[in-house]
Amino acid sequence: MPGQPPNLQRLPKGCTFQERCTFKFDRCVAERPLLREIAPGRTKSCHLKGFDPSGNAVQG
Ligand code: SF4
Repeated sequence: MPGQPPNLQRLPKGCTFQERCTFKFDRCVAERPLLREIAPGRTKSCHLKGFDPSGNAVQG
């Protein structure tokens, strides 16, 4: 992911990657995504649900 990591002493309200993420949408700014298990032994912390068959981001 291009760009610089956030200032750890001034983290944004929502997702810490919001300034660098090309898929950012309104919820990313308002709410920090929770870490959740998506498969046994695999977790993610992102509001995106995934991508449709055309490759378009599906917002969660
Ligand atoms: S929650 Fe996911 S889509 Fe939103 S800014 Fe963070 S990494 Fe990007």
